Amino acid sequence: MIPTPVNTALKTLPTYQPGRPIEEVARELNLPANKIIKLASNENPLGPSPLAIAAMQKVLPNLNLYPDGNAFYLKQKLAAKLGVEPANLVLGNGSNEIIEFVGHTYFAPGVDVVVSQFCFAIYPLVTKLFGANLITVPAKDHGHDLPAMLKAITSQTRVVFVANPNNPTGTLAPREEVIELVNNVPDGVLLVMDEAYIEFLENPLDLSSLVSHGARPNLLLMRTFSKIYGLAGLRIGYGIGHPDLISALEKIRQPFNINSIAQAGALAALGDEEHIRKTRQNNFAGLEFFQRAFRALKLEYVQSAANFILVRVGEGQRVFEALQQQGVIVRPMGGYQLPEWIRISVGTPKENERSLAALKTALGQK
Ligand code: PMP
Repeated sequence: MIPTPVNTALKTLPTYQPGRPIEEVARELNLPANKIIKLASNENPLGPSPLAIAAMQKVLPNLNLYPDGNAFYLKQKLAAKLGVEPANLVLGNGSNEIIEFVGHTYFAPGVDVVVSQFCFAIYPLVTKLFGANLITVPAKDHGHDLPAMLKAITSQTRVVFVANPNNPTGTLAPREEVIELVNNVPDGVLLVMDEAYIEFLENPLDLSSLVSHGARPNLLLMRTFSKIYGLAGLRIGYGIGHPDLISALEKIRQPFNINSIAQAGALAALGDEEHIRKTRQNNFAGLEFFQRAFRALKLEYVQSAANFILVRVGEGQRVFEALQQQGVIVRPMGGYQLPEWIRISVGTPKENERSLAALKTALGQK
């Protein structure tokens, strides 16, 4: 028997279930790994930027040295790109780690945290880990009901989480509602705007100027290199906020949470506009492909602004397994209280076609 954990939340806390790795499914189904495609974790199907790969290879001979704990060059370049100061930036081992920093800073028993139904799974997990109280606001048409979230803020609320676009629904909140929310969240409440998928938008609302001008010290933006930059395996994301907030988060951060390879890869990826443009274009075409196909199949789907799409297939778990048998890994949505739905990440045109064919087979439509 292990010593009883002091953190009593662990008794009931579920373990996060990520998209299944290709190698794991290959072992389980005795299939060659190169015959399996993964459209389960909203990764970039075009791979990392070739510039990033070259930059990462270049730092390998120096791995005997610790990384620059403050990631000077990466912060400089990011700050210039975003129009903020390096003091506005904190880097995380994936943006997931930034969520944990927020938890260490603001969560405790007696604290309320406001999220939406169908929100990104890590927000409730971290809230419960720290013994804080989750307030879940019902979604509207699968998306965030921002006016209702604003109303749900109590005197005990310290943090509101909004992912825009949201994962797993792909929904984008109306611009006016976001502005209304940002302007009206009380000063004592931190609004975390999770912008993991913002680069996929054609005309995104840019909130970073509110941070750079110091207008909203209670606003934290989160972004990542895992999605459009194609570097999910590298584990690097960042937060953009008021320097005082960033200083607090920096105290929690492990000194070398961003390794040297990640710093070099992210830095180079920032400069590869062509790769980003190609990825965005592939994504628009892929979303169009799936939406057209689902309409033809008379399958309900949620209009997506991100790099994945939620589709209603009946028995989600069964369809997920049937797709997996055909070497296509997608994400079942039972854990999100959407048991009739699966989420499919946009792949290359070939991957999209293969997953659609597998879906038709799974649904007996072929
Ligand atoms: N936020 C949202 C909305 C996400 O979908 C994800 C990845 N699934 C993350 C944050 C975390 O991404 P990462 O830790 O890879 O930066």
